[in-house]
Amino acid sequence: MALRRVLGLGRALGCRSCCSKHPLPPDFVEALRAVVGGPNVSTATVVREQHGHDESMHTCAPPDAVVWPQAVGQVQELAALCYRHRVPMVPFGTGTGLEGGVNAVQGGVCSDLSRMDAITELSLKDVSVLVEPAFPDEVMAGACSRFSGLELPAATTLLLELHGSRHGLAKQQRQAGTDASPGKEGFVVGLLSSPPCPTAPMVGHVGDSNFHCLTFNPQHPAAAQHVHAFSQCLGRRALAAGGTCTGEHGVGLGKRALLLEELGREGLDTLRRIKAALDPHNLMNPGKVL
Ligand SMILES: Cc1cc2nc3c(=O)[nH]c(=O)nc-3n(C[C@H](O)[C@H](O)[C@H](O)COP(=O)(O)OP(=O)(O)OC[C@H]3O[C@@H](n4cnc5c(N)ncnc54)[C@H](O)[C@@H]3O)c2cc1C
Repeated sequence: MALRRVLGLGRALGCRSCCSKHPLPPDFVEALRAVVGGPNVSTATVVREQHGHDESMHTCAPPDAVVWPQAVGQVQELAALCYRHRVPMVPFGTGTGLEGGVNAVQGGVCSDLSRMDAITELSLKDVSVLVEPAFPDEVMAGACSRFSGLELPAATTLLLELHGSRHGLAKQQRQAGTDASPGKEGFVVGLLSSPPCPTAPMVGHVGDSNFHCLTFNPQHPAAAQHVHAFSQCLGRRALAAGGTCTGEHGVGLGKRALLLEELGREGLDTLRRIKAALDPHNLMNPGKVL
């Protein structure tokens, strides 16, 4: 989050004033309260707007209501309720995506999962842990620290896992950035400038070809066009190199045209048929990807 602020990555520009294609049915909000409890439901404009966008440039599209379920059973009940009344449902993690995945483009109910943060299963034998969607990074960093005898800060931490011989590890550390040692945060900065793409600074954990291009000045509306042109160009270069446009943030609103180029009409139609089989009324995050 702090990194995003420093780098000036912006919040969505503006907010749609109306949210839903169809207003919520009468008494629907009461039914939501019956599932998750009164304090865990909000229809306040400011709350809806907070949940109507992620960290991207896509125009904010607020849901009609926001709920905070606290258990799997509540999520199931909410889904059943929305299904019965044909109300769209959109999950919300922390809203840090860059594809407009949380924008409620057809209104409906946003389920903010930030209050589901429990460990549900821990197996030392399989070295695995099952956690709810909002399990906090800082708790994970603390647990890793205690287990490995490190002194990681109890905060959101970028973990780089390096494998190899002593010599190989030293080389990888140099490649990852001079400051990349256990418990240290590090990033690599470069400039992506090869034509025909517009020039943009980038920062990333580039060892796994994962990088962020920083072209967006939220104070400057014309920058949105620049971002769009750049990301289209970047996606097309990935496709031309035999890669994928889906990248770290997947596909939400912004890369749908690129996904069509990547998969072709038949590929997309196949995905649509699978979604229709699972979600016949198109209520689960409608208007995205496909
Ligand atoms: C500057 C920056 C740096 C980043 N660096 C890294 C990095 O180093 N490594 C890395 O892996 N990622 C990185 N990311 C990506 C970031 O981790 C993703 O944005 C994040 O994984 C999205 O999680 P979220 O909970 O915020 O999702 P949201 O933005 O809340 O949601 C994304 C999509 O997933 C859906 N969704 C959310 N929760 C659920 C759920 N429980 N069930 C079903 N659907 C759900 C939403 O409806 C939406 O469509 C970075 C992002 C930024 C902006």
